[in-house]
Amino acid sequence: MASGALFIRPCPTCGRNLEIHVELLGRWVQCCHCSAEFIASARNETPWIDDRVDRALAEAARYMASIEHAPSRR
Ligand SMILES: [Zn+2]
Repeated sequence: MASGALFIRPCPTCGRNLEIHVELLGRWVQCCHCSAEFIASARNETPWIDDRVDRALAEAARYMASIEHAPSRR
């Protein structure tokens, strides 16, 4: 194994941390969790302004799913 340098980037869609090879910097990569595609950036700031919106939407979706899956009590 020669240059196996990795860096950690949170997926802009699902927010999970991904290990990305440095050689993929600036290229389109695919999240292994939610299959979202985004450009791997070395910088910490996200190129998407609506990142918080995406996070909020993901959280809302998770919340809705938790409600649906919750056992209904009577
Ligand atoms: Zn993802």
